[in-house]
Amino acid sequence: MYCRNCGKEMDDLAAVCISCGVSKDDGNTFCRNCGNTINPNAEFCTNCGSTTNRKVVYEGEQKSKIAAGVLGILVGTLGIHNFYLGYTSKAIAQLLLGTVGVILCGIGPVASAIWGLVEGIMILTGSIDTDGNGVPLKD
Ligand SMILES: [Zn+2]
Ligand SMILES: [Zn+2]
Repeated sequence: MYCRNCGKEMDDLAAVCISCGVSKDDGNTFCRNCGNTINPNAEFCTNCGSTTNRKVVYEGEQKSKIAAGVLGILVGTLGIHNFYLGYTSKAIAQLLLGTVGVILCGIGPVASAIWGLVEGIMILTGSIDTDGNGVPLKD
């Protein structure tokens, strides 16, 4: 296996390239199979024909960026967008703030609504672009 960032040969089991420090599969300049320079958008390596350079396909479903963002803006008070994305502990914090927080003279729900609104916008603008499992959101 070759480092996709610097093209140096690296151990098949190594998680990080010892030459440049980039984690394996990061970078898109070199062929992972033969170390040849490749076009980042190429479907296969023109030198060896390997198709292993394509972007990693994520296991499991990618969550919708639009859905998560809209949920954050509309019902962020209850942390619904974070439940959807799998940020469970943050979602529970918002849910508590948005429900039990009523006891605090209504400040809790207002605070969590603003929190959800800000996160909804961050999701839509791409500032938050992965779910709780690190899987990129789809457009
Ligand atoms: Zn490297
Ligand atoms: Zn190749």
